[in-house]
Amino acid sequence: MNIHEYQGKSILESFGVGIQRGIVADTPEEAVEAAKKINETTGSEWFVIKAQIHAGGRGKGGGVKIAKSLDEVKSIASDIIGMDLITPQTPPEGKKVAKVLICQDVYYPGDSEPSEIYMSVLLDRAINRVAVMYSTEGGMDIEAVADKTPHLIFKEEIDPAVGIQGFQCRKIAFNLGLSGKAFKEMTKFVNALYNAYVGCDASLFEINPVLKTSDDRIIAVDAKVSLDDNALFRHPDYLKMRDISEEDPTEVEAGEAGLNYVQLDGNVGCMVNGAGLAMATMDIIKLSGGEPANFLDVGGTADAARVEKAFRIILKDKKVKAILVNIFGGIVRCDRVAQGVVDAYKNIGDIGVPIIVRLQGTNAVEAKKLIDDSGLKVHSAVLLQEAADKVKELVA
Ligand code: ADP
Ligand code: MG
Repeated sequence: MNIHEYQGKSILESFGVGIQRGIVADTPEEAVEAAKKINETTGSEWFVIKAQIHAGGRGKGGGVKIAKSLDEVKSIASDIIGMDLITPQTPPEGKKVAKVLICQDVYYPGDSEPSEIYMSVLLDRAINRVAVMYSTEGGMDIEAVADKTPHLIFKEEIDPAVGIQGFQCRKIAFNLGLSGKAFKEMTKFVNALYNAYVGCDASLFEINPVLKTSDDRIIAVDAKVSLDDNALFRHPDYLKMRDISEEDPTEVEAGEAGLNYVQLDGNVGCMVNGAGLAMATMDIIKLSGGEPANFLDVGGTADAARVEKAFRIILKDKKVKAILVNIFGGIVRCDRVAQGVVDAYKNIGDIGVPIIVRLQGTNAVEAKKLIDDSGLKVHSAVLLQEAADKVKELVA
């Protein structure tokens, strides 16, 4: 689950990670009130207005702006709230901004000279360990740094049995060229950041930039936090941070129906039980020259109601030209699934695209007969290759 910057920062802070605080606002008036409060506590007269969306690259897209007066806070906040912010990480049409975060401008003249550090904590699947990636070349062009000067990005692997060690924190602070108080603060920052990552069951932290202030404190100025969905049951507080408006509406609907659905770009809809079989089905579609339109795992109980729901969800995607149903009847009997397909077809009415059904396992023969005798525009197949070939033929 992805969360907003302001929410990510609140989690980091609860684990003792230094952050740059801010105040969230839903309206330009609230933004001005927030700026006034920040002025009272910090004395700063410059502020940063930051669009809160689930995507990075906001600065490049015009979603992070400096305001040098309260009037500017109001006008910038009214420009940003409600805008469709397009960044390199959003869909082409952008994402609608509902909230802004108002922060002190940490580069306020005389306050600090900018020295932006990049730091992320992530699960490195190649080594099966958590790794801390970091670079002195943080800021808005870290992708270019990774592309052109990858030797400027360092990686520290953490042994899960013992967690992050003092020498590793010191090595990171040293490689970042810090000394004195800033060095010490960085070791604390890295230690707290790793513990936050493990403690909140995150799948990704990307803190870019981490800032060394003029008084040598180390703070997270930005925070991209993704939490591991499978561990959310342990964190009811974080579950409340979910912002459904940021998610794909069809995926949300599928999730509510207990279906595991991911939208893709192709034209062959897939309905499969089991994630492994779903992957194999997508592979065979591709090998036969097609493109899967989605990943859809209907789970272990592919009954009529679920099959119907799955059809309706797949059909929302107007690119779909055929649907391949590939179900292995182990616990669920194939004839029940076949009956489900027939019933769903009748309930929905004209599905409009050919359906190819391959059912294997318990009562597969009865299931095939049910499909063949149904008189509907449903084609049955026995082998997976045969099914994929049929899809290809019908789509063409
Ligand atoms: P994104 O990564 O989505 O572009 P950031 O929060 O990293 O958003 O902001 C983009 C850039 O804006 C930062 O790299 C930094 O240079 C600047 N910035 C962000 N917050 C502040 C702040 N509080 N004070 C001064 N500059 C800031
Ligand atoms: Mg950033």
